[in-house]
Amino acid sequence: MDFDLTHEQRQILDYGNTVAKKFDRRYWMECAEKRVFLEALYQKIAEDGFVGTMVPEEFGGAGQGMTEMHLFLEGLSNNGIPLLNLVVGAAMSLGFIAKYGTTAQKSRYLPDACSGKTRFCFAITEPDAGTNTIRTTTLATRRGNRFALNGQKTFITDADGADYVLVVARTKPHTDVGKKTEGFTLFIVDLKAKGLQKQYIPVSITAPETQWQLFFGVDLGPEDVVGEIDRGFSILFKSLNPERILVGSICCGLGRYALNRAVEYVRERKVFNNTPIGAYQGLQHPLASSQTDIEMASLMTLKAAWAFDQGREAGEFANMAKLAAADAAIKAVDTAIQCHGGNGFTKEYGIFDIFPMVRLLKTAPLNREMILNYIGEHVMGLPRSY
Ligand SMILES: Cc1cc2nc3c(=O)[nH]c(=O)nc-3n(C[C@H](O)[C@H](O)[C@H](O)COP(=O)(O)OP(=O)(O)OC[C@H]3O[C@@H](n4cnc5c(N)ncnc54)[C@H](O)[C@@H]3O)c2cc1C
Repeated sequence: MDFDLTHEQRQILDYGNTVAKKFDRRYWMECAEKRVFLEALYQKIAEDGFVGTMVPEEFGGAGQGMTEMHLFLEGLSNNGIPLLNLVVGAAMSLGFIAKYGTTAQKSRYLPDACSGKTRFCFAITEPDAGTNTIRTTTLATRRGNRFALNGQKTFITDADGADYVLVVARTKPHTDVGKKTEGFTLFIVDLKAKGLQKQYIPVSITAPETQWQLFFGVDLGPEDVVGEIDRGFSILFKSLNPERILVGSICCGLGRYALNRAVEYVRERKVFNNTPIGAYQGLQHPLASSQTDIEMASLMTLKAAWAFDQGREAGEFANMAKLAAADAAIKAVDTAIQCHGGNGFTKEYGIFDIFPMVRLLKTAPLNREMILNYIGEHVMGLPRSY
């Protein structure tokens, strides 16, 4: 057993430190507050080959695995730069096309996406189905060898800036299938397609990526189908593990960022005698405990990424990583706020500003309760309650 990263993996983790010299947390916050995409940072990341981390080299990518994608996102987040688009676009959508797309799809979409010329987003959530994907009602009805896609998706991150959306649709309504997981198909949809409308969803989270509701009345061809018709569910669920792993990476990084800031602060701040407040166990112990939780979650996230790269069943580790990392990040940021006293709430220190993002990641992309359901049912063999 070897817990050391290779030289190259260490460089990937440290890339976040290098890129943050120019595109730091302040830059992220400026874009987030204006709700404009971090175009300059994204282009830099694409130029340095990281958007295509998980895409094979022959299609313009770096040909690396989930471990490298995890280290890359954790390294950025260690510097307070969480990039949601890289989860839904670079990892999920591109990873999906790279793995299950046809050669024509890979040649058409991947090189441009890896170079930063185009972006992808991912649409699964529907207003009525919510967490219960089985009840998806966005329907692609066959018209000869073409499809008429009708329906609605909600909370689609980056749908205004992206060029394409990978849509999870039904090709058979859930009421017409013997097995409830049958009849799912994935489609690549051009976000400028005739019959596609977008509506902005104002959210209270400050982030550079915005949220959109999508309404489809779109004509699609067989060339737009990713994977097998009606059999999208099994590959879909494999692709949700990467999402959970990478949310783990972001949470661990943001938690570490908040703790590092808190440590700097409590080393300096003196309010009684000449002792820095970092000496008080009332602050030191929560800091130490939060650091431990983050490092444990980070190890589980790395293990989940490793299992995924080995082609092993990664669901158990991916779900545990997401659960542990989101909880650890919330605790870390809360501790960092407390350590900063009133300054924890100021714009100048920016500590409270970290909280909304980590809190989001407790609910999305999969809520904490469904993660626990997965562990209870699939890891521990307990009966299903819903
Ligand atoms: C900022 C943001 C970005 C997002 N980006 C995307 C995106 O890019 N693409 C996309 O497709 N979706 C996206 N989402 C959607 C997100 O994944 C969903 O909001 C999330 O999965 C929860 O679904 P819901 O909102 O329908 O909640 P509901 O399904 O209505 O659930 C509400 C709550 O009920 C509880 N609950 C539900 N089912 C169970 C159960 N079986 N057992 C116990 N408790 C349960 C949970 O606590 C849950 O939080 C985003 C959401 C947000 C807020």
